[in-house]
Amino acid sequence: MRRLARTHIGLKSGDPRKQGMSARNLILVLGDQLSLNNPALSDADPACDHILLAEVTEEATYVRHNRHKLVLLFSAMRHFASRLKRKGFEVHYFQLGDDVSTLKSACKTVLDGHDFERVLVCQPGEYRLAHEFRQWPEALGVEVEVLADTRFLASLEAFDAWADGRKQLRMEYFYRDMRRQYDILMDGDKPCGDRWNYDNENRVGWRQQEDIPPRVNVEPDAVTAAVIEEVSAAFPDNPGDLSQFRLAVTQTGAERQFDWFCEHALSRFGTYQDALVEESPWVFHSLISMYLNCGLLDPLEVCRRVEQHWRNGDCELSAAEGFIRQVLGWREYIRGIYWRFMPDYADENFFGAERPLPDWFWSGETEMRCVSQAVRQSLDLGYAHHIQRLMVIGNFSLLTGLDVQSVCDWYLAVYIDAYEWVELPNTLGMALYADGGSMASKPYAASGKYIQKQGDHCKQCRFKPSKMTGEDACPFNSLYWRFIDRQSDKLENNPRMGLIMANWKKRNPDDKTAILKWADHCLDRHA
Ligand code: FAD
Ligand code: SF4
Repeated sequence: MRRLARTHIGLKSGDPRKQGMSARNLILVLGDQLSLNNPALSDADPACDHILLAEVTEEATYVRHNRHKLVLLFSAMRHFASRLKRKGFEVHYFQLGDDVSTLKSACKTVLDGHDFERVLVCQPGEYRLAHEFRQWPEALGVEVEVLADTRFLASLEAFDAWADGRKQLRMEYFYRDMRRQYDILMDGDKPCGDRWNYDNENRVGWRQQEDIPPRVNVEPDAVTAAVIEEVSAAFPDNPGDLSQFRLAVTQTGAERQFDWFCEHALSRFGTYQDALVEESPWVFHSLISMYLNCGLLDPLEVCRRVEQHWRNGDCELSAAEGFIRQVLGWREYIRGIYWRFMPDYADENFFGAERPLPDWFWSGETEMRCVSQAVRQSLDLGYAHHIQRLMVIGNFSLLTGLDVQSVCDWYLAVYIDAYEWVELPNTLGMALYADGGSMASKPYAASGKYIQKQGDHCKQCRFKPSKMTGEDACPFNSLYWRFIDRQSDKLENNPRMGLIMANWKKRNPDDKTAILKWADHCLDRHA
């Protein structure tokens, strides 16, 4: 895979004002950069710098974004603009109805009436925009500085330095380095508790053994209520049931939501982080990815807060470590992978998966209970937790060979926290193994037994996870073996697949034929 050279995206790590240039900057703040830690804002001066935020049609429509995401971003942008105004900045703000189609045209409109020396912007989260910014100096006739996004904890250079020369880029080793670097959950140079990893304690399935506390909702304020109306009118066909919109739209609001998580859910986060639960879409998960990803929460702060909870004795080490691993480890690692391997990464398709997406991806109307539940809540709320994304919807897509590009587009559209830097490696790399193993050491493929073990969906399902063939057989079972059979050429050299491949090979030929025949039937019927 070709790697992206840093110069390709025109990153600058220094601030031009600190390099002695007197400047009048137009600072463009994107919808996922709503933080005073945004490097383009860190030294902004209300006396000479102006700020621009724009709700532009192109960004709102390049995929069929979930309406929850649009409302969250537009409302959070409007609140952030008010905050900047209160700090004395002149803020240029284009609302959706102002009909500004692109970020470039928004910049041009403001530049035309003023005498700015440069446009300053923090690096965007998608290659598409980073690439576009490179054309801007010529198109706008002004200097355009794209600053490295210091809100992340591993710079792209640091990630590359870690990755260069390694045969395999395993998250675990990256994560340990991050723990050491930020001195999080460390006891000198050793991990607290003498172990880096508590995954074994953190994989308990769900048998209704705990009460799940109800979430505290944030009632929409006047700004959010207005945005809900505008988005409903402008995007009538997008997914998202806005009658259920209950998200925070400010830093303070997001911090309160995180406080709630620390107090009521963190202690059980680790234990049930892989659980699949009929009664709750969120179980004990934190529901903060959408805030972290748009700038309302700071990743280092949330990790430090969770560490403090453990040090105060408010949760087990396994819970704190499980959470910190996700934010300090997975989140940063995923971003490093994206920028290291784009743009070629987006075209990877290791298994040659090209089957069109079934229509029910846009309705949730399938008889498979686990899938139906995960898809419906993804469409309605823009949220599904990790195991639903990976081992239910992703697993089904992998086993049935759904078209990689279409699956990635679907994930980018439906989730409230979806930006390409995080969605693509997770979907293409982790769930679909379409990068051939750059990230995962083996495909996350599983039969119905895994889903049964992790939760209580199967009890409500018309299929039985114990059955391989026949009308009431769980489709995941035969589809799993079909996947192993069809992809054996590509999997047999994978040491972690050896046992499974051997099991399949030594199976009775008649059984194999019956399973594969039933799998074809399941494909026709469900995919
Ligand atoms: P929790 O389970 O409470 O975890 C805490 C935090 O850890 C999350 O908020 C998130 O910031 C971080 N995190 C955990 N796992 C990952 C991961 N694999 N990659 C990056 N960050 C992680 N996450 C997104 O933010 N945006 C996406 O578009 C996205 N797409 C995904 C697609 C697939 C196929 C898969 C398998 C995972 C995807 N994830 C994505 C990762 C993960 O599923 C979500 O971050 C998580 O479900 C968000 O819910 P939460 O805040 O309750 O997370
Ligand atoms: Fe899902 Fe199969 Fe269980 Fe039904 S039986 S819920 S399809 S795993």
